[in-house]
Amino acid sequence: MPRRQRMKEARDEVAALRGENVSPPRYCTNLPFGYKGKERGRGEIVEFGGQPNDATLLGRNYIRLVRADETPMQCGGCGAWFVTEVFLRAHGRQAHPDIDDPSRRLQHEIEELRREDQELSKAPPIKIGPMPEVRTEKP
Ligand SMILES: [Zn+2]
Repeated sequence: MPRRQRMKEARDEVAALRGENVSPPRYCTNLPFGYKGKERGRGEIVEFGGQPNDATLLGRNYIRLVRADETPMQCGGCGAWFVTEVFLRAHGRQAHPDIDDPSRRLQHEIEELRREDQELSKAPPIKIGPMPEVRTEKP
């Protein structure tokens, strides 16, 4: 990381720790935990600052700066932001399992077919031979 960017990040962190409103640097969680009275998912963007344990959270990497190469995406269900699509999807599966997501439905169908295919390949081969004689008359 270039020195200039490191310096800027350091200044922003100091400002955030003082509770000053910093923009645009944004912070996200590195793991799920509760922050400012809300459960945060992994990779969730948070408004960082003004909490008594902020320095510890930053120091222990619970919270980090959003990287320049990350493109945050917003959840259509609750409006939360996530640093990557992977984290957004993980959040969606957990927080809004009822929301109908066409890509997830398709994925589900593919998995079902795959499972079915596996089951069929495990079954013993069907022996095809002459039909057994069926007696309908009583002796
Ligand atoms: Zn959501």
